[in-house]
Amino acid sequence: MIQKTHSYDVVVVGGGSAGVAAAVGAANVGAKTLLIEKNPYFGGASTHSSVLTICGLFAQQEPTTQVVGGVGQTFLNHLARLGRYDGPFRNPGSGNVIVPLDGETTKFALDQLVLDAGVIPRLHTMVIGADVDGRQLRAIECFHHGGPFTVEGAAFVDASGEADLATFAGADVRYGGNEGRVQAGTLVMQFGGVAPDISIHRHQFTAAVWQAKRAGMDYLTKDRGMVVRLAGSNHVLALFADEDVNGLDSESLTQAEMSGRRQAWGYLEAFRQYVPGFKDAYLVQTGPAIGVRETRHVSGEYRLAGEEAIHGARFEDAIARGGWPVEIHEPGEAARYQQIKDKSYYEIPLRTLKVDRIDNLWCAGRIIDCDPIAFASARVMGTAFATGHAAGVAAALHASVGRVAAADVRRELIRQGAIL
Ligand SMILES: Cc1cc2nc3c(=O)[nH]c(=O)nc-3n(C[C@H](O)[C@H](O)[C@H](O)COP(=O)(O)OP(=O)(O)OC[C@H]3O[C@@H](n4cnc5c(N)ncnc54)[C@H](O)[C@@H]3O)c2cc1C
Repeated sequence: MIQKTHSYDVVVVGGGSAGVAAAVGAANVGAKTLLIEKNPYFGGASTHSSVLTICGLFAQQEPTTQVVGGVGQTFLNHLARLGRYDGPFRNPGSGNVIVPLDGETTKFALDQLVLDAGVIPRLHTMVIGADVDGRQLRAIECFHHGGPFTVEGAAFVDASGEADLATFAGADVRYGGNEGRVQAGTLVMQFGGVAPDISIHRHQFTAAVWQAKRAGMDYLTKDRGMVVRLAGSNHVLALFADEDVNGLDSESLTQAEMSGRRQAWGYLEAFRQYVPGFKDAYLVQTGPAIGVRETRHVSGEYRLAGEEAIHGARFEDAIARGGWPVEIHEPGEAARYQQIKDKSYYEIPLRTLKVDRIDNLWCAGRIIDCDPIAFASARVMGTAFATGHAAGVAAALHASVGRVAAADVRRELIRQGAIL
């Protein structure tokens, strides 16, 4: 098969929150930028696993304070234009500040965001290899149904969520945190037919799961999950079906997807029987894919520690703010939270995004170099927008001038509306 080669200034692998922000940030610098995504739409976990609440664009303090601007704000502007954003929402129970999404508006808003910035989008394309010459990543190998092809770039961003590109490039990566443990995977369930006039109380779902388990449904993994009503509808999203999954391994993923779907039908039955207002509920959708919170992390030039995140650390080369609490999910257990000092924010240094020993490769999103506690905060989508934006700007500066100073990245990010 004849291989065609394409050349760009900046190539971004992965079109989730981090990858979209990286591509737009690079294009805003003037770089010819390619954004590669294996799914048929952008958004990563938001659109492909129904993670429909953005955390981390705002800190948790009162009054509400925005900590991520730039491409994150441009995305909010697109949502607003489509009639789906009129400000953040503070959860009355937890006090945490989120931005609710819906899947279809998110897909369309991200298409517009990417096209408006002049990014060249390439969906349905899987990156499967890399060509490295010393400390330089020269090109990546891609695959679509037409066969393999090669893409050359002056600089690259790995926003794959699984550190695929860094791994192919031979960079130092590690699976999970302490002793290779990773956070739980969860198959998100969407139920319709929920009575419009009932309020959602967590304890009712926990009690329903206990009753269902007593009646024999012992395969339900979690009794204290999250249920949120989708604005203006009789649909709810429910996060209960946890799986202990290795997101790099198709055998493990297959087992988790099938077990998760079995759980989803079980939860439907439990809620129909035991939760008021759920008598006529039905399963609208699972996933589509199981949500994988964690696989590999990249070794950067600096590893952000949980202590630094919790105590609101500041850095001279800060390129992003993290304003979401530490949020840890162990399979089958309720989420554990720890607030950032003063419910404010910590800073993320550029060095956590710089892939060690590959001069023209940056990483972004949930794979940046963090210990397990810092990861448990920095992984959320709002923060991924911010680290993606910075990685894209750094890659574009590298492509144009051949060297990257943190002060220049900060200056350009501020010019593009980032909050630093
Ligand atoms: C169940 C669950 C609930 C969560 N709840 C929340 C929440 O409420 N709010 C919140 O803000 N965050 C939440 N998170 C965390 C958040 O969704 C992720 O950490 C975030 O999406 C990370 O963004 P990312 O861009 O780094 O990765 P991803 O969103 O995972 O995007 C990576 C993209 O790269 C693509 N890709 C991967 N490999 C390749 C390849 N080789 N070639 C081409 N494309 C590739 C993938 O298809 C994907 O689109 C949750 C996560 C899970 C799993």
